[in-house]
Amino acid sequence: MKKDAYSWMGRSLDTIHRANWYRSVKAIAGRPGPIITINGRKMLNFASNDYLGLAGDDRLVEAAVAATRELGTGSTGSRLLTGHRELHRQLELAIADLKGTEDAIAFSSGYLANIGTISAIVGGRDLILSDEYNHSSLKMGAKLSSAAVLDYRHGDIDHLKTLLDGHRSRYRRALILTDTLFSMDGDLCPLPRLAALAVAFECMLLVDEAHATGVFGETGAGCVEYFGLTGTPLLQMGTLSKALGSLGGYVAASAEAIDFLRNRAPSWIYTTGLTPADTAAALAAINIVREEPERRAKLWENVAFLKELLGDRAEQIGDSDSPIFCYFVQDAATALQVGNKLQERGIFAPAIRPPTVNTSRIRISLMATHQLDQIRQLVEVLKTLR
Ligand SMILES: *Cc1c(COP(=O)(O)O)cnc(C)c1O
Repeated sequence: MKKDAYSWMGRSLDTIHRANWYRSVKAIAGRPGPIITINGRKMLNFASNDYLGLAGDDRLVEAAVAATRELGTGSTGSRLLTGHRELHRQLELAIADLKGTEDAIAFSSGYLANIGTISAIVGGRDLILSDEYNHSSLKMGAKLSSAAVLDYRHGDIDHLKTLLDGHRSRYRRALILTDTLFSMDGDLCPLPRLAALAVAFECMLLVDEAHATGVFGETGAGCVEYFGLTGTPLLQMGTLSKALGSLGGYVAASAEAIDFLRNRAPSWIYTTGLTPADTAAALAAINIVREEPERRAKLWENVAFLKELLGDRAEQIGDSDSPIFCYFVQDAATALQVGNKLQERGIFAPAIRPPTVNTSRIRISLMATHQLDQIRQLVEVLKTLR
């Protein structure tokens, strides 16, 4: 009898269900904000990456609508063919200006920025050193590049140095990859020490500022600015889809590095340029980041307020010096139960389980637009859990 070539998918799904790893989507109604509607029910939203509350901001909406009216809905082609608009260049110059780099290049998503950049700058004769907790897009880029990949223990500079001592000399180029603010743990990479090691071992350093841009640093430029490393030789990537409330990704670096990527990054060359709407919304967001530092200040005020309310429980909940907090639980099944309990009590904060992370948790993220009272409500509900 002939076997069905696709039947393995059903079996694989069964395994995923049994492990409590199964995932599905939930439709959220209306504009993003601290209160969202799921299944007709209003809930407090502690699950968003919209840290500055810009994704529902009228100014971004208006910018997107105006750009769509003027330039249409699609950019119709690759940036190198018919897809390049003056608006794209304005956005790239605004990103470079924010990051303090010579130039920047906008990709159609952060994921595409990482896989395209990494696979363009290293190859089979090269070495990648990657923090074990790095985002999927960094790991996938490393895989696609066909470079040798060594993971170092999370944030462990000594381990990284040992790996460099043992392996660096056998390879042509080397590249260190790290998130700056780790998306699922809320902690920072030891960037100054990473940068020093990169120089000492002649390695390139690509930092992923997806969660830090708009959040960290005096002007909201990210962790590079926070650590006083603006202007040092780095490849800084990030996304337009988190604090900037739009869609797209970017790399900011020297003019030469950006020119190289325009010629060599396949996920930029062979994909359609950002839509006018996404581009204009991101540009409006960068202007707001620059002109309204009080939004960032309010976000940090909210972080401080949550920590203060948690008090002794901060340890249990996972102390954090960022807008990302973790409530650790023993396994995936418990994470789902706790996530459901929170939802019953009007709090939306998702269970994060393997394979996204090794240890299951509820991830809580704060926004500048949360009211103190909403954070108080979150803590009241958290206190009933244990
Ligand atoms: C979200 C994210 C990305 C991908 O960005 P998108 O624009 O959503 O594709 C890359 N790196 C990190 C650390 C992220 O959190």
